[in-house]
Amino acid sequence: MAKTIKKAAPKKPAAKKTIKKTAVKKTAAKITAKKTNLKKVVKQVRKQIKKDIRKTAGKAAKLKKAVGKEKRALKQVKKNVTKKTAAIKKQVAHKAKKAERAASKKIEKTLNPVKKSFAAQKKKIEPKVNHILEKAKQASLKAEELTAEELKQIKKHLIELHQDATERLKTKKEMEMPEAEVGDPIDTATQSLDKEILFEQTDNSHTQIDQIESALRKIDKGIYGKCENCRQLLPKKRIKALPFARYCVVCQSSKEGF
Ligand SMILES: [Zn+2]
Repeated sequence: MAKTIKKAAPKKPAAKKTIKKTAVKKTAAKITAKKTNLKKVVKQVRKQIKKDIRKTAGKAAKLKKAVGKEKRALKQVKKNVTKKTAAIKKQVAHKAKKAERAASKKIEKTLNPVKKSFAAQKKKIEPKVNHILEKAKQASLKAEELTAEELKQIKKHLIELHQDATERLKTKKEMEMPEAEVGDPIDTATQSLDKEILFEQTDNSHTQIDQIESALRKIDKGIYGKCENCRQLLPKKRIKALPFARYCVVCQSSKEGF
């Protein structure tokens, strides 16, 4: 630029020209200096900015690195915590199991003497209890045994029953109706129904007479008062209710069931 200014200067008188040229030159030099200075400043500023940027970038990278490190460390800590927690849990479970085993062992240890003493006591008492039970059973059996006097009474009663049944049978036979007269169908039906009932009653009487006779034979043979099936003594209550009963109540009901 300085050159251009120099060349572009118009032709003027020598003295004035010189003065003017000097002034111009001075001004140009000043401008040049200023420009140079400015350039320097700009350069410096740019340099500084670049330096700052580099510095900042370095700091950022360092920071990033530091953060990464922290993150890794945190991850490791988490991992460690998880591991440790699992280990503790395992340990606690193990301890609990151990404690449980110990407790059950302790209970067993405490209980064993009690069990033993109970068993010993049971062993000691059992024969006594069995003896008492046996005695009670014998007593109750004895209670069901018929005395001679009772047998005598039963025999008497059976004979009476036999007489009654025979008597009833005789009466029924005498009452047997004559043949139906031909004619009235309703009369005929009624008579045949009556006959049927009579026949059934007669049959029942026959069965009862047989049973009574069998009971009387048993008294004579000395085997009266026992169930024909299970051979147990019949309870007196049953004999009183049905002196010609063949079975005990249990055997009777099981026979009827089939
Ligand atoms: Zn029986």
